[in-house]
Amino acid sequence: MRVAIIGSGPAGFYAAEALLKRADAAVDVDMFDRLPTPYGLVRGGVAPDHQKIKTVIRVFATTAARPTFRFLGNVCLGRELTVEDLRRHYHQIVYATGNEADRRLGIPGEGIARCTPATVFVGWYNGHPDYRHAQIDLSVPRVAVVGNGNVAVDAARILLRTPAELEKTDIAAHAFDALCHSQVREVFILGRRGPGEAAFSPAELKELGTMEAAVPVVAPEELAGCDGRESTGNKDKNLKILRAFAARQPRAHARKLHLRFLVSPVEVIADAAGNVAGLRLEKNRLEARPDGTLAARGTGAMEMLEVGMVLPAIGYAAERIAAVPYDEKARIIANEDGRVVDPASRAVIANEYVVGWARSGPQGLIGEHKRASAQVVGHMIADGAKLAPRPLPHRDAIVALLRERGVQPVSFSDWKQLDDVEVARGARRGAPRDKIVDVEAMLALLGQR
Ligand code: NAP
Repeated sequence: MRVAIIGSGPAGFYAAEALLKRADAAVDVDMFDRLPTPYGLVRGGVAPDHQKIKTVIRVFATTAARPTFRFLGNVCLGRELTVEDLRRHYHQIVYATGNEADRRLGIPGEGIARCTPATVFVGWYNGHPDYRHAQIDLSVPRVAVVGNGNVAVDAARILLRTPAELEKTDIAAHAFDALCHSQVREVFILGRRGPGEAAFSPAELKELGTMEAAVPVVAPEELAGCDGRESTGNKDKNLKILRAFAARQPRAHARKLHLRFLVSPVEVIADAAGNVAGLRLEKNRLEARPDGTLAARGTGAMEMLEVGMVLPAIGYAAERIAAVPYDEKARIIANEDGRVVDPASRAVIANEYVVGWARSGPQGLIGEHKRASAQVVGHMIADGAKLAPRPLPHRDAIVALLRERGVQPVSFSDWKQLDDVEVARGARRGAPRDKIVDVEAMLALLGQR
């Protein structure tokens, strides 16, 4: 069986490994990525001060070293390659394209300068080629980060880290330079629901108490509503951490990270120059939904928070890809348990599968997708066994087709060359790597431009 996996992030690599290690099936895997570099979210999303999480790429590199695996980078589905091409050259297709779009607040003023989705900020500091020219102006003293998830925590932490804390990481050089000159002194993380409903992982929340020059600030009254409330698991752990933060005496002069709850932005306010001057917030209360979960409801009480930048970090969504069935409501690739379906009829589209965030939406930590991808591979093998054998063009025909279209795919050994260059550049500042952030520069290094 020959399988195309579209996307080289964690879910794609977990699917590749699950396919290639099976003893009951002989599978060849071609993994495509629109970038010349592999690893998706591990490279472009995981925060630079979380190097330990990135060690998972060693496992992915082992998969890539299998003789039946091929990486074809710098090939974009929907641009140089169509779904029809894939259907012709492969028995099965796995979409592992992740979530590259961001969710919007949908409030007045959201589009003004210095109101920047967290996707952009994260891509910028991680050296993602799409965001290397993003306008991130750190001349402002106060920033609001909207949302109570781990992305909000990442964004706030990176804004408040010192140069010494960032220097030895793989942060993009342009972001490191900008952060070295940052005027940001206070960051506000804003949750629309209460502390007991926050989506932070306890470990991420706790880390906020260990920054070199910034302290978390929680007003005790923010936690008052949680006294005596029953919580379990992560929620309970988060409440304990927040209570410990609230009991601290803020160090004088320290940069501050304020954690605020039960507030929703209703308008981004601009100054005369059209930049963010503040965020109008509505105070919320919690109301039980019929299913027992708690929803935020506006009380009508307003407040103005003076900030010079707003970073909404309220979740991601899958981008639509031409000819790939899309679920408008969930903003994912339409699927039933990883089998791609027609969004209207829910009929299964044979031989097409989806893994990772493109399947589930932006949920679950990286490691949690290992099992989920393996489960989809189980469906693939079971479905594949029922299919009549179908002869395909030669395995190299896809490369010839791409070359005809003027695209030179980047192989895994090409990537290793880029990797060596990045690692050598990083060594100069004692960092694990200094990323090349420009696709043209990558291709030039490989002698392709
Ligand atoms: P998330 O965990 O789903 O959090 C999104 C947050 O945005 C929630 O607090 C949500 O509040 C809030 N929100 C949604 N719509 C809103 C609105 N209109 N106004 C105000 N707030 C709104 O998403 P994420 O932070 O983007 O993270 C995505 C996934 O990546 C998660 O699984 C996360 O754990 C993972 N991740 C992990 C790490 C790590 O382990 N270090 C780092 C980054 C990301 P409600 O709860 O009220 O909806």
